[in-house]
Amino acid sequence: MNEKKWQLLPACGKEAENLDIILACDGASSVGQIGHEVAVKLTKEEDRARMCCITAIGAGSRAHTDIARKARRLIVINGCQMECASKIVRNAGIEPTYEITVAKEGVDKLSTLDFDDQEVERIAAKIVKDLNKKPVR
Ligand code: SF4
Repeated sequence: MNEKKWQLLPACGKEAENLDIILACDGASSVGQIGHEVAVKLTKEEDRARMCCITAIGAGSRAHTDIARKARRLIVINGCQMECASKIVRNAGIEPTYEITVAKEGVDKLSTLDFDDQEVERIAAKIVKDLNKKPVR
């Protein structure tokens, strides 16, 4: 791959206050992978949206917890009703601006890493629409 074509992202550690930080559970199932792909799509296509490392928050990284806390809006994407991403964020003492659970959006949780791209498009569009009603911090 030609690195010159790679899309460089804003530095979340330096610019969190100006970013919609996205944390997705990235679970090993259809719905977890849809959530991951939605986070990637929003990061690549939406202005000032930036996926960040939820695993680091779960591991207690202060730097990553600070990013989530400082974000202008904090968007949390869960795969299934276990809502692990939301729990990690709240365990760190942070309240998300917006949460969504893919399995509550008409998608079955299946034991596969495969998914339908149309579901990614649909859920990403719903998040963008919902966020238009949410004030920026
Ligand atoms: S919310 Fe569901 S899909 Fe995501 S990591 Fe937890 S159990 Fe896996």
